[in-house]
Amino acid sequence: MFKKFMRKYGYYMVAIALILVVGITAGLTGNDNETKPEISTPTGSTAIEMVCPMNSPEVLKWYSDTDLFYNSTLKQWESHKAVDLSSSVNADVYAVLDGTVTDCSYSYEHGYCITVSHSDGLATTYCSLAQATNIKEGDEVKKGQKIGEASNTASNESLEGNHLHFSVSLNGKSVDPSNYITFENK
Ligand SMILES: [Zn+2]
Repeated sequence: MFKKFMRKYGYYMVAIALILVVGITAGLTGNDNETKPEISTPTGSTAIEMVCPMNSPEVLKWYSDTDLFYNSTLKQWESHKAVDLSSSVNADVYAVLDGTVTDCSYSYEHGYCITVSHSDGLATTYCSLAQATNIKEGDEVKKGQKIGEASNTASNESLEGNHLHFSVSLNGKSVDPSNYITFENK
């Protein structure tokens, strides 16, 4: 019975199997082609050249999303998704890339903050700024343009004195500013 069936339909079975194999292979190749651009997309850490947000700053605290730093102001250990750059009194703070100001805010913890959105999913935030600034939401800013002055308005880091708390996000996720800017501690 089975032999008879195979003799009659065997070729069809083989043909169907071949079509399936070819189809699956083509499907896989097709998927490969679709995912290739994503894989080859650069993570964006090397092609973008930011300027330093301050002139020759000293790094008081580096970025960390895993290691804990001791916050002497709050007397607790915490991660620090930014770099803290020290300044002389009221040192100028510059936009690191062209962009649009998307947020100007004040909070007790972070002081006066400005967030600038750039191309390629990047945004930068500048905190512990002095209050006086002529920058407002919606402003277009140029790379290297002064947007504020570093101060001591962030109460959760007040023992660091006048400084800029500078953070970078890529597609909404915080990343190490050192990926884009070389900070040289003297
Ligand atoms: Zn900080």
